[in-house]
Amino acid sequence: MRSALAAEGIRKRFGGLWAVDGVTLRPEPSSIVGLIGPNGSGKTTLLNVLNGVYKPDEGRVLLGDVDVTGRSPHQLAAAGVSRTFQTPRVFKSVTVMENMLTPTLHLHGRRAGFVDRANQLLELVNLIDKRDQAASELSGGQQKLLEFARALVTDPHVVLMDEPFAGVHPTIKEVLQGRILAANEEGTGFIIVSHEVPDLIAMSEWLVCMDQGSAISEGLPTDVQQDDQVVTAYLGQ
Ligand code: ADP
Repeated sequence: MRSALAAEGIRKRFGGLWAVDGVTLRPEPSSIVGLIGPNGSGKTTLLNVLNGVYKPDEGRVLLGDVDVTGRSPHQLAAAGVSRTFQTPRVFKSVTVMENMLTPTLHLHGRRAGFVDRANQLLELVNLIDKRDQAASELSGGQQKLLEFARALVTDPHVVLMDEPFAGVHPTIKEVLQGRILAANEEGTGFIIVSHEVPDLIAMSEWLVCMDQGSAISEGLPTDVQQDDQVVTAYLGQ
């Protein structure tokens, strides 16, 4: 059974600005939650609080029943919270396979036992033929696929994804969407920030719309999409 990653009354301030101003999210374990909202509404900051990049000024982060507020990204990764970024953060000078094994080395101090899993994931994202090439030789979209596969290698409870579909070729987007859904079928939870609202609605079980640091609407995606506040704040802009 996987644990859900939850936010309870999170507030995070930069100077005089409350970038996240009291957000509570209680996803079901093993669910896909979509997070939408206009630029500057606090989505990335919330992800950064959820994976420990920022310590919240107020509120708690919970993994299952465990209060993980204030743990570092590394500690949270070890506890089962993975992350991908808008611009993929792969290690370009080393091979695709080395990239895949980095988290296992950091988190478990060993690689043995993860090679099969890494191979299997590379197969699933169509990168198995590139396994021994430097990551710098991959296209931007392929780097996103690699970062995604790497996020799964440690079998996390939850993967936080920031704009996974932005700027990627439709073919790669399709692979990524398919793999997210397949990993979710196997129990991995996702919290996905995306401006590609129709894609996100199609994948998400629960949709949250943020505006000016607050969650202004949440619920079933089709309901949130039609919420007047959401249309005004975001979709109709
Ligand atoms: P979104 O991801 O929804 O576009 P962000 O979380 O990136 O929104 O930003 C929310 C607000 O916080 C914005 O006003 C942004 O300028 C501000 N902000 C984000 N990160 C920082 C930072 N490191 N320092 C100061 N202000 C920041």
